[in-house]
Amino acid sequence: MSLHEFDVIKQYFTRASKQSSVIKSVGDDCAIVSVDTDKQLVMSMDTMVAERHFPISATPRQIATRALTTSLSDLVAMGAKPLWFTLGLTMPSVDRAWLAEFSEGLFSIADKYGVDLIGGDTTQGPLTISIQVHGEVDADKAFTRDAACVGDSLFVTGTLGDGAAALAVLLDEVAVSQNTRSFLNDRFYQPELPFLAAQQLVNVVNAAIDISDGLIADATHIAEASGVSIELNADFFPIAPEVKAMNSPSWLGWALSGGDDYQLLFTVAKDSLPDFYDIARSLDVQITCIGKVVPKDGGLGHVSCYANDQRIEIPSNKKGYQHFVT
Ligand code: ADP
Ligand code: MG
Repeated sequence: MSLHEFDVIKQYFTRASKQSSVIKSVGDDCAIVSVDTDKQLVMSMDTMVAERHFPISATPRQIATRALTTSLSDLVAMGAKPLWFTLGLTMPSVDRAWLAEFSEGLFSIADKYGVDLIGGDTTQGPLTISIQVHGEVDADKAFTRDAACVGDSLFVTGTLGDGAAALAVLLDEVAVSQNTRSFLNDRFYQPELPFLAAQQLVNVVNAAIDISDGLIADATHIAEASGVSIELNADFFPIAPEVKAMNSPSWLGWALSGGDDYQLLFTVAKDSLPDFYDIARSLDVQITCIGKVVPKDGGLGHVSCYANDQRIEIPSNKKGYQHFVT
């Protein structure tokens, strides 16, 4: 790498680590962290490409907050505690104003969730951001997609459809008040991750996933991995008042097949429900039962949805989130 790039790393991406587990951070050939022997490491990587994963209008700060928040969501989905992350940054040129705003946004989310940036790679090319997140979980306690059992209840944190409603507003498909626009902007660029709730629920959850592709698509991932079917009840879907009040009949579609909600979708066995409700009541997070796990009727497990006791037909092209394409 050139001297220029060392200077960029030093100026914008080097900070004192906040956790004592970090032995060596940005600046050496590798980072070194110490790991608790009772825990298991959990890690995941996400890449975001300009104009595909965020609108062209996104500011450097918004790109950073969205990239790190959505990457951390995968740790929430496993019930893990976020610890460290690394950043692969490819950019067309060294633009100092851009870097200052980007790194400020990045560290604001790092501080919010208590993760340290411990390394990365910086290269020249079309704007692309890869983030690898690392977290820990008590041994054998991570949530997985394949652990749903017939008879489980299905729950979701927060509200559904905010991400898709936000995208519709960003694309000027729907007109909204300034207040709603700013509410949705926050939902899109820095959704609130239910990570404390996820860690608290670690002993009562069977299967879990974060809603990134859309409720139907992500529930289908659980159904297929677990060899079960899932019935959703749209009468109980939690929809933000701002979204319901929008002058648009689309909220059910947004809830079912819009992506980008970054909420936790999870199942709980009948025997665990009393403990689950005890914990849920103590949490500062909205949690709603929206369905149940039922036997599959041959083939792969699938997802169906009911409203007013009527089955809703879901067009197959509406089952998942499409990447942002201009
Ligand atoms: P090497 O040549 O040994 O691969 P680099 O020159 O790529 O190392 O990086 C030097 C140091 O800066 C390393 O510690 C690396 O982890 C860190 N680093 C590089 N780019 C970034 C970045 N975008 N964010 C955080 N740390 C980075
Ligand atoms: Mg390198």
